[in-house]
Amino acid sequence: MIPVVDRNECTGCGICVDDCPAAAITMDDADIAVIDKDACTDCGICISSCPAEAITEG
Ligand code: SF4
Ligand code: SF4
Repeated sequence: MIPVVDRNECTGCGICVDDCPAAAITMDDADIAVIDKDACTDCGICISSCPAEAITEG
C-alpha cells in the first residue's frame, strides 16, 4: 500500500522530500507533503523518516 500523509500532522519540514529515494514526494501550495502514487515504490522510508509521524501505511 502507498503511504498516506496526514495533512493535519504534516509540519512542512520537507525531510521526507529529501529522503524519498524515488523522488515521489513534493510539497503542495500549502506546504504539505504529497506522495505521487505512480512514482512511489512503497519502500516505507518516509514513514520512519517523518519526525511528526505524519506518514503512515496506506
Ligand atoms: S517529513 Fe513529515 S512533517 Fe516533514 S514534510 Fe514530510 S510528511 Fe510533513
Ligand atoms: S514509501 Fe518510499 S518511495 Fe514511497 S513516498 Fe515513501 S520514501 Fe518515497
